[in-house]
Amino acid sequence: MSELKEIFASYKKLSFTDRIVFYTTLSSNINVHDDNLQDFLVKTRIAGGNACIYCEGSYVVKNGKHKDGVQRFLCRDCKKSFIPSSCSITSGTRKNLSVWAQYLKCMSDKKTLKETAEECSISVTTAFYWRHKILDALQEVTDRVYLDGVVESDETFFNVSYKGNHKKSRRFIMPRKAHKRGNDIHKKGLSSEKVCVPCAVDVEGITFARPVKLGKVSTECLIDVFSGMVSPSAVLCTDKERAYRILARNEDIRLIQTGTDKRTTSGDGITYGIQCINAYHRLLKNFIDRFHGVSTKHLEHYIIWNNLITNNKRSKTEIISLMFVQILRRRLTVHNSDISARPPLSFVT
Ligand SMILES: [Zn+2]
Repeated sequence: MSELKEIFASYKKLSFTDRIVFYTTLSSNINVHDDNLQDFLVKTRIAGGNACIYCEGSYVVKNGKHKDGVQRFLCRDCKKSFIPSSCSITSGTRKNLSVWAQYLKCMSDKKTLKETAEECSISVTTAFYWRHKILDALQEVTDRVYLDGVVESDETFFNVSYKGNHKKSRRFIMPRKAHKRGNDIHKKGLSSEKVCVPCAVDVEGITFARPVKLGKVSTECLIDVFSGMVSPSAVLCTDKERAYRILARNEDIRLIQTGTDKRTTSGDGITYGIQCINAYHRLLKNFIDRFHGVSTKHLEHYIIWNNLITNNKRSKTEIISLMFVQILRRRLTVHNSDISARPPLSFVT
C-alpha cells in the first residue's frame, strides 16, 4: 500500500505533458472509458482541480452535469461556466474526447479521411475539418523547432493544386486552365506551377519545411523560412546553390556545400553530405502521395503532420500523447468556415 501511495505522490509532481504521456502509455487502448478521461482532464487541465480555464481564478465550483455526464464548472470570479475541454478545438463539436483520441491514433497511422471517418464513426466532412483543426493546433509545435548540430538543407517542389477552391466560391477564379489530374504539367523547369518547399533536417532527425513561394528558390525565401531556426553553432550542409551561401552568411552559420549525392570531407576530418535531406524529401513525397493530390492551401498542414509522425525518434504512444496534450492545452477556436476560406496560395504576398 505504501508503494501505491508513493506512486500517487510521484504522479502529482508530474507536469501536464508527462501526466498525459504516463496516462496514454498505461492505456493499451487509447479509447479509454470517458469518466476516466474527464477525471483526468479535471485533474490536469484545470490545475489543482479548481482553477478557471478563462481567468485562472481559484474560486471555481461544480455546476451540475451535462446530459452526457460531463461535469460542468462555474467560476465565481469571472462568472463563466465551462467543462474541462472548453476553449480547445474539441469544444463545441458534441463528440466525446475519446473520439478525438481515436482520431489522433488514425492520424499517427496515416489513415485517409474515409478510413478515419469509418473508424471514428464520423462523417468524411467532419473528418476533413477535424484534420485541419488538429493541424492548426499542432502548428505551434512546429514553430518551436530549433535545428542544431549537422543540419542538411535542400528545397523540394510540389505541383500547385487548386483543389478545394472551385466549388461554392464566388470569389475564386481559376488562374489557369484546369488539369485533368495533378500531374499533367508540361512546362519545363521550375515554373510558376511548382511550389518551392525549403526543408532541413538535423542530426537528431528533427525536421522543418514550409511552402514559401512559386518557382525557384531564392535567398529571401530561405531567410524567411530558416532565420532564427538554426543554431549559430550548427554546420549547414547544402548543394551548391548560391542562395544558401547568402543565408549562411546572413545567419552567421558555418556552411559546407557539396554536390548532389556526393560527400565532402572537411578539414576537421568529418564527412558531410545531403543524403539525409534527400531521404526526407522521398518520405515527404510518399506521404503526400497517399492523399492523392493535396491542395496547395493545405500543403503546410500535411508537412506538419508528416514531420510529427514520420521523422522523429518518438514512439507512437508518445506521438499521440504529444498531439493530445497540444490540442487540449491550446486555447484555440477554429470554425469550419475559417478552414474553407483559406486562400489558395497562402504564402503569396
Ligand atoms: Zn474565471
